[in-house]
Amino acid sequence: MDLQLLSQKSVCQSAMGRGRRRNFCTSSKSPETSSDIETRVLVINTGGTIGMVLHNGVLSPEPNALVKTLRKLPILHDEQYAQQTKLYESYKPEDKTLVLPQSKLNKRVVYTFLEYSPLLDSSNMTPNDWSTIGKDIEKYYEQYDGFVILHGTDTMAYTVSALSFMCENLGKPVILTGSQVPIFEMRSDGRDNLLGALLIAGQFVIPEVCLYFYHRLYRGNRVTKVDSGSFKAFASPNLPPLANAEVDIEIDWDTVWRPSTTEKFTVYTQMNHNVGLLRLFPGITTDTVKAFLKAPIEGVILETYGSGNAPDNRQDLLDEIRKATQRGVIIVNCTQCLRGSVTISYATGQALSNAGVVAGFDMTPEAALSKLSHVLAKQDLTTEEKKKMMSRNLRGEMVADLQGAKISLSDSRFIQIIAKTLSIGCKEELEAIRDALMPTLACSAAKNGDTETLEAIRKMGTDLNKADYDGRTPLHIAACEGHLNVVEYLLSKRATVYSKDRFGDTPLHNAIHLRHKGVVELLRKSGAHVSSDELKDAGTELCRLAASGDLEGLRIWKLAGVDMAMSGYDGKTPLEVAGAIEHTEVVNFLKVA
Ligand code: ASP
Repeated sequence: MDLQLLSQKSVCQSAMGRGRRRNFCTSSKSPETSSDIETRVLVINTGGTIGMVLHNGVLSPEPNALVKTLRKLPILHDEQYAQQTKLYESYKPEDKTLVLPQSKLNKRVVYTFLEYSPLLDSSNMTPNDWSTIGKDIEKYYEQYDGFVILHGTDTMAYTVSALSFMCENLGKPVILTGSQVPIFEMRSDGRDNLLGALLIAGQFVIPEVCLYFYHRLYRGNRVTKVDSGSFKAFASPNLPPLANAEVDIEIDWDTVWRPSTTEKFTVYTQMNHNVGLLRLFPGITTDTVKAFLKAPIEGVILETYGSGNAPDNRQDLLDEIRKATQRGVIIVNCTQCLRGSVTISYATGQALSNAGVVAGFDMTPEAALSKLSHVLAKQDLTTEEKKKMMSRNLRGEMVADLQGAKISLSDSRFIQIIAKTLSIGCKEELEAIRDALMPTLACSAAKNGDTETLEAIRKMGTDLNKADYDGRTPLHIAACEGHLNVVEYLLSKRATVYSKDRFGDTPLHNAIHLRHKGVVELLRKSGAHVSSDELKDAGTELCRLAASGDLEGLRIWKLAGVDMAMSGYDGKTPLEVAGAIEHTEVVNFLKVA
């Protein structure tokens, strides 16, 4: 599968940006085309319907047919331009190189075919074929601006996911596409799909492994094939498209994933083959599960119900699962639902997590399986490290609660992106952005009970006492949420217990109102007290609680160190109020309080 290297001698052309501006060497040059910028795309043809023809009444791939056909299609090849610019002299091999007509952005996408032999129906593909594609991307990486992989639709979601994990620190677009109807037929979606993929791969630096189909560019590891009879064959249920190709090609740059490091691109092609997908169904037998989890299996994607649930009244099943995770088998929980994420909101989901199953959040089964295969192949990692890697967002394949933010904050990728977008490079400006954004992010980490992110934020030099737009500090938020661990962490980092938000409330006051006893105790130990402002209304509040017989409410105020004999707006004490309505329990409490 070697491609003849490009001729280095490029007569009559000059470097320009990421493409090359081509001048005409003939007298027939036209002003319109003489300013075209050329970009280069490698098209790797692996097979699939796009290049199939009928043989004995059934479709199968036809070798060496695609390029010949495309050469005759003016929307996919401009032969006049190729001749006038002597394109083939500089781009070899000429019989495999084509050029698109001029694009709206004044670009010429020159594309060269690398055709595999044999061409495959994607149902016949294996992880070894994914590795071959990965190795070719690596081999030709520096020679091309982008890559288009022609592939059958049946297993495209698996290949695209696998490639997304294989490609580490990718900086150029890799776009898989294909079609539902062969390109040789009159009503084929192949022409549009190929054209769209080429235009995007040749004109936009989207550093992701993507899938282009029916006017949409998707993140590859988010897609699944949903329709075998429609041109709209794929869906990306948990992530909007990266681009829409309507009248114009609109890229949603906010959604585009960027590697967080500046390391060199590499391809890690090893995959562990001892993985599998196990779909739960009501009545599944223990024997089935036991047989499935037997050696040599090393990793399983467990397709569960709803938000990650499995029966918690089937101890037999849970025991088999626990035994497997204890043996070191990594089991990842993914939902059978097309859309949504795995959570532990139900006891039935909690049971799996207790049995050692890792949450797969909103990953598609295709992405989860290829990720597992990729992670398990990393022999230098321990099982625990592999499990951690499975629950980390590696290539935008999932949103693991605040996981995305966690990663980006700890390596400050978030700030870097903002700085890049705003074209900011100097230290002072970076610090200004950090100071503006971090307090709000710290508050949201506190809300999520996420001390790891708080620590990452602190390490970036942010004062955890800084307040958000409402004057609320992370301690206010943690006190409201009742997150004891966060309150403890913040206090250990010298968070002040005295800050007031814009309503004049202290964290202690928040904890009293939301009745977080443990938090009140902790804050009190650190010297917190109800402020004089807050005390103004405390007497009335105590009387209200006494009137409604709310002993728990009164107890928490007492725990906060407030005088239980304070009178309300009408001068009555809580004891008098409770006595008047003869609430004995409250009266007894207040008498000794
Ligand atoms: N069976 C074909 C394949 O996956 C289907 C297609 O390409 O659409 O190769």
